Amino acid sequence: MKKEIELEVKRHSFAHILASAVLEMFPEAKFGVGPNIENGFYYDFDLPRTLIPEDLPILQKKMIKIINKNFAFEKSVVTHEKAIELFQKARQEYKIEILNDEAKDSEVSLYRTGEFVDLCKGPHIDSTGELDATSFKLTKIAGAYWRGDEKNKMLQRIYGVAFNNKKELKEYQHKLEEAAKRDHRKLGKELDLFCFSDLVGPGLPLFSPKGVIIIEELKKHIENVCKGYGFQKVMTPHLAKIDLYEKSGHAQKFSKELFHVSSDQKHDFVMKPVQCPHQTQIYASKKRSYRDLPIRYMESEKQYRAEKSGEVGGLNRVYAITVEDGHSFCRVEQVKQEVKNMVEIIKNFYSAIGLWGNHWVSLSVRDYAHPEKYIGDEKDWDKCEKMLEEVAKEMKLDAKKIEGEAALYGPKLDFMFKDSLGKEVQIPTVQLDFATPKRFDLVCTNEEGKDEFVVMVHRAILGSYERFLALMIEHFAGNFPLWLSPVQVKILPVSSEKHLAYAQKIEKLLLENNIRVEIDDNNESINKKIREAEKQKIPYMLVVGEKESQSDSVAVRSKGSRDIKNMAIDKFIKKIIKEIEEKK
Ligand SMILES: [Zn+2]
Ligand SMILES: [Zn+2]
Repeated sequence: MKKEIELEVKRHSFAHILASAVLEMFPEAKFGVGPNIENGFYYDFDLPRTLIPEDLPILQKKMIKIINKNFAFEKSVVTHEKAIELFQKARQEYKIEILNDEAKDSEVSLYRTGEFVDLCKGPHIDSTGELDATSFKLTKIAGAYWRGDEKNKMLQRIYGVAFNNKKELKEYQHKLEEAAKRDHRKLGKELDLFCFSDLVGPGLPLFSPKGVIIIEELKKHIENVCKGYGFQKVMTPHLAKIDLYEKSGHAQKFSKELFHVSSDQKHDFVMKPVQCPHQTQIYASKKRSYRDLPIRYMESEKQYRAEKSGEVGGLNRVYAITVEDGHSFCRVEQVKQEVKNMVEIIKNFYSAIGLWGNHWVSLSVRDYAHPEKYIGDEKDWDKCEKMLEEVAKEMKLDAKKIEGEAALYGPKLDFMFKDSLGKEVQIPTVQLDFATPKRFDLVCTNEEGKDEFVVMVHRAILGSYERFLALMIEHFAGNFPLWLSPVQVKILPVSSEKHLAYAQKIEKLLLENNIRVEIDDNNESINKKIREAEKQKIPYMLVVGEKESQSDSVAVRSKGSRDIKNMAIDKFIKKIIKEIEEKK
């Protein structure tokens, strides 16, 4: 019986076997490093020729042979000097470079598999036969600078994925295929939600009318929920003097990510990297009494970060980010209720989208070993962390305390969701902040007529609209719920000539009821029109022909269903309005 071996050990052993196969194919190969990565491994090589995709199946076959030959993984421990001698003999300059970084009096462990000897701390399997030869696949070739430094030589990297068995590998491959179908960049184009332009620049998405509909619906929903909890809308400009961020601490934090704006009039501004400091200035614009508190502001505005250009792509990493941001300015004794309200808002919003329950909550606290990473008083921090912990308990959030995940200015509750690849993303967050009010002198006059610092509670519900839209597209695979669908109804006249007038009449009725509708008046067969509407993922199709136009009715076909139901038009309108309101 095969013993249980940790997957990580198997993956790293596959990397050695890959190197061994490469050595067979290129006896003069020089070896870089071959660590594990998520789902698999890679190995870097310096080879006499450039690899081509056709090399991968050849190497894969060689690896299978090595596995079947059941070579032992032989470990040996030698002196540093001996190791250098060995690798010099084998002309392995990269291994020697690694060795030269280590202490001369250290012991060095080596692993041999067949002809291939690697500098490696292990652990490894005992012999290659312990691996399932059907559980791995070499996936791609890429260039990679030695030690990640572009001044060094470019090596060739071979990637592979590996699992415990064939079934797990197949499951992984299936998941990847599904994710590719849901990729927001692909679907965003097909559904005409957003685009990019070389002239505008990368990292600057342009939202088409249909994309804007989804964003506006989300915004409307958030604002409606928040209004119920006393939030008021504010608007702040997209740039400011750097002084604002020097005072808030963001200038230091985002020093490498600020966009600077200057003009012939000697203006010197930065594009805002965050919203919070701007909103503090509305609070500070007049004297506040304790009776006015809490004061709650919200806005959905753009902010700007100069991300590294290599990291920009799709909607997940962009330069211009539309952030839905809100703050409550309140007294210490009001903090708990404020946090509770915000958690309720988050719960309400995510329930409407059907994502509530598909998450876990992180109580993100300080890194107690490094207090210098944070601003503010230690006493305030203690108080804040305790309050959040209490709220989490009272609201049964089942929060996990994670050290070192707090914000610069205070602890927070982070809500973690999963994307379509199962990767965790943090979206909503509630953050306590005792530090910013002190920096900006945000006070209220208390019962004794004295100034008292307020507390700032930051909250984000969907984070940025860009990232959230990407997540939603992939989560729903483009099949948005009715209330978010850019086109809710498509009218399909059986004959684009004979039934167009009746289709237009229906369209007018729907538009009067604020239902988003389009007519497909192409000269195509009705089946083709249905297929097209399915592809566009439109929730309702209304087929109208002779029978319908004579009886003021429509033949209703919902997305993904084969059933067609005849319905009086006013009955259909009532039904769809109800479904939109209920956010089905
Ligand atoms: Zn190793
Ligand atoms: Zn904030």
